[in-house]
Amino acid sequence: MKVLIVGSGGREHAIAWSVAKSPKVDKIYCAPGNAGIAEFAECVNIKAMEFDKLVAFAKENAIDLTIIGMDDPLVGGVVDAFESEGLRVFGPRKNAAIIEGSKAFSKDLMKKYKIPTAAYENFTDPDEAIKYLETAKMPIVLKADGLALGKGVLICNTLEEAKEGVKTLMLDKQFGDAGNEIVIEEFMTGREVSVLAFCDGKTIKCMTSAQDHKRAKDGDQGLNTGGMGTFSPSPFYNDEVEAFCEKYVYQSTIDAMASEGRPFTGILFTGLMITEDGPKVLEYNARFGDPEAQVVLPRMKNDIIDVMEACIDGKLSDVELEFEDNAAVCVVLASDGYPEKYDKGFEIKGLDTFKDKDGYYVFHAGTKFDGDKIVTNGGRVLGVVAKGEDLKAARANAYKATEWIDFANKYKRNDIGKAIDEA
Ligand code: ATP
Repeated sequence: MKVLIVGSGGREHAIAWSVAKSPKVDKIYCAPGNAGIAEFAECVNIKAMEFDKLVAFAKENAIDLTIIGMDDPLVGGVVDAFESEGLRVFGPRKNAAIIEGSKAFSKDLMKKYKIPTAAYENFTDPDEAIKYLETAKMPIVLKADGLALGKGVLICNTLEEAKEGVKTLMLDKQFGDAGNEIVIEEFMTGREVSVLAFCDGKTIKCMTSAQDHKRAKDGDQGLNTGGMGTFSPSPFYNDEVEAFCEKYVYQSTIDAMASEGRPFTGILFTGLMITEDGPKVLEYNARFGDPEAQVVLPRMKNDIIDVMEACIDGKLSDVELEFEDNAAVCVVLASDGYPEKYDKGFEIKGLDTFKDKDGYYVFHAGTKFDGDKIVTNGGRVLGVVAKGEDLKAARANAYKATEWIDFANKYKRNDIGKAIDEA
């Protein structure tokens, strides 16, 4: 069969790697793809938001299955565009992707269906928001309702900071229309865990857990990024936490979406905080997390095409997900200066070292070809992933593998997986 993957990051590289393992697949295309994805797929110069061109490409090339990796096209209705032309596509429709596209929607959904989450209020009027803040307990969390590349969340320690935050989001519109509405939410403390799950509209099957590191610098300092590294599984996602979430979070979410006439098919990403009062939902995403996919997919034993097709056909209950009994760690190699100003266009050396090494992977994010060289082309450049028999071994292997790669302004965090030592 022929598969089209939409996206261009490390997540799509990990998906392409996983799809390429399926004996059912003869040909993979990726729009727009990157220099690493080109190893498995023919990259097509169509952007993820060019729905008409994507649909036309799928028809002209008799694509059997399209997989959408990114949030923007899902929230914008790319799945509906494919389905209206009778094309098979993996991902939630627009009316279900809203679970990621609107934080106000997802908070209201959780409240209505009693899914544990932080206390909150939604606001469309900045004056009302400020009035509410004047009586609220600090620290407090402000969130732009819409998509803001993971940067629309402000943690405010004082009333002044919070008032300034309302101005930034709602009046200065730093994230455009994403800040037309904001969620003001209780500040929680605890361990964060990401759980990705396949869904077919009625059934949900969770993958192994993972933990991200969002801040740019060691010790969780610096600005928020798209993710600087991950590990899987999370030692904090123990049997008790899992049982609680199975009972009160995952199936309840899928049932809630179905009850609202918004059946969810695709990948549901649940961001959890394990607080003293038990696990609470921080956020939902409607697709694989980028650095999470890079540690979860290499550990999955199933044929990803079988699982995705079962989701589309409403037959996920027949599937048993299986994961290797080991661990994986991803360390992101970024351009120094990311997520602010950085230079790009530097030659990347050492990529071939990964070719003959079992259990080591290098997933590309911001890379491109420059003649026959591969050069840096973004803030997050590569995800270096290694497996190991346990988390400590995987972490040692991943850091060893980061030394195989060289480019001029290579930057990485040195404490990915430090939490493993505290488990
Ligand atoms: P992304 O798209 O990158 O996953 P996002 O913009 O959807 O992020 P959230 O995941 O809701 O935003 O929040 C980003 C981060 O902010 C969380 O991972 C968490 O560290 C912190 N955060 C969010 N809500 C709270 C809260 N109520 N209490 C404490 N920290 C929070």
